Amino acid sequence: ALTAGIVGLPNVGKSTLFNAITKAGALAANYPFATIDPNVGVVEVPDERLQKLTELVKPQKTIPTAFEFTDIAGLVRGASKGEGLGNQFLAHIRQVDAICEVVRCFEDPDITHVDGDIDPIRDIETINLELIFADMDTVEKRMKRLAKMAQMKDKDAAIEYPALERISKAFENSLPARTVELNEPEWKYIRQLNLLTIKPILYVANVAEDEIANSDNNKHVQAVRELAAKEGAQVVVISAQIEAELSELDDDERAEFLADLGVEQSGIEILTRAAYDLLGLETYFTAGVQEVRAWTFVKGMKAPECAGIIHTDFERGFIKAEVVSYDDLLATGGETGARAAGKYRIEGKEYVMKDGDVVHFRFNV
Ligand code: GDP
Repeated sequence: ALTAGIVGLPNVGKSTLFNAITKAGALAANYPFATIDPNVGVVEVPDERLQKLTELVKPQKTIPTAFEFTDIAGLVRGASKGEGLGNQFLAHIRQVDAICEVVRCFEDPDITHVDGDIDPIRDIETINLELIFADMDTVEKRMKRLAKMAQMKDKDAAIEYPALERISKAFENSLPARTVELNEPEWKYIRQLNLLTIKPILYVANVAEDEIANSDNNKHVQAVRELAAKEGAQVVVISAQIEAELSELDDDERAEFLADLGVEQSGIEILTRAAYDLLGLETYFTAGVQEVRAWTFVKGMKAPECAGIIHTDFERGFIKAEVVSYDDLLATGGETGARAAGKYRIEGKEYVMKDGDVVHFRFNV
């Protein structure tokens, strides 16, 4: 499964947030997925469509789809030179598919910042630079190897090398690789390098408890928003402290607490949704009287591959998929209505699944 890594400098609230994620996931006991890696936290992906489908179908149980966050500790200034957990930290980042970068936007004289004062822009630049340094190494080595082939007029090198030159240029200007535009053939080569700064990123602005309802007044949050807007990145505002408190509560108490705060969703819910979207993940549903369930697939996947997410046999023996869109199903009042209205479609092997599809797979065993 695709995972988002939580990174940040020390004392910004990462552990507080990650512990809350782990607890929130553990409470969601109806999710049949056990992880043994202590650095992985599994949470439910909030989706109101699942609730609506449950009301419609009245199944025995409802199972949301899940999302994994990975805790990546150990980032300090100098990591690319081996400071702190250095290389280990970078290796862990290499294994995740997207980055959630926690930046500190809360003032608290009792909690020191590693670089003195609170300055999320400086923090973002610090982290960017560490990741860029590590990528520079990768890119330089690759360019050296390719230089020879390029001289020999190697067809592949002729595509990859110029792209590497542009990326290298971006690094010289302290810009991450994700800012470099790559065409499809170039991307095919560059993606194999698994560069750290090419991974999609979102910023998690950690604010004080009493600022969550009007966080836009926080000048640090404003600064992060401006920077993110330039990069085309998302910002999720949370208070790790609040998430920690929420993770201790039962459903009713949580709802009450959120209402008191004047927010509809917890920070973790908002973050989960944002990370899910950042990774290009989408959801399809299976809806039977026994179970209504949400499943995650990667945008662009075809029906057999999506069937394989439920069980490998479904993919191997795939015959066809019977599909109705969530919107049509709801609008026609359920299966009977949707059938009468001709909203069910039979789709074959080449069908590209859509977010919100409600599916019944037919397969040979
Ligand atoms: P990490 O080093 O990034 O993992 O940071 P921690 O999660 O250990 O947090 C560092 C300190 O900041 C701890 O004492 C937390 O209780 C505190 N902290 C984290 N988030 C918040 C917050 O939203 N508000 C306040 N006031 N303190 C926080």
